[in-house]
Amino acid sequence: MKAAVILTKCKESHELFGIRAEVRESADGASDREDWYATWAFKVSERTAGREKFGDTEISGNIYITSEYPSCPYCGAKGFFQCSECGKTTCWDGENETVCEWCGNAAETAAEESFEGISGGGF
Ligand SMILES: [Zn+2]
Ligand SMILES: [Zn+2]
Repeated sequence: MKAAVILTKCKESHELFGIRAEVRESADGASDREDWYATWAFKVSERTAGREKFGDTEISGNIYITSEYPSCPYCGAKGFFQCSECGKTTCWDGENETVCEWCGNAAETAAEESFEGISGGGF
């Protein structure tokens, strides 16, 4: 199984955490686009991130949040968004406006684009 750790920053604490994501077969089978599913999140230090080379994997395609996803380990945000400028991820809790923790790019968050796969946790 193809899996990766997506290096992410917390919008509240500005600390790093890793999101573990895995590729699952796309349901329609016709596209060669990869669908990624986030299943876990954990705190990482900058030193660990560099040593483990977190963030080196290119994620193309959609990243979905599964019901197992435990939320941001610092502030409890239920999701994350991918910056359209730098492609990196910051935790996200449903705000309409977001600021990328990596490059400072502010953007409106179109939830339906990247989070259509959210499966509810009853919150
Ligand atoms: Zn956070
Ligand atoms: Zn950015």
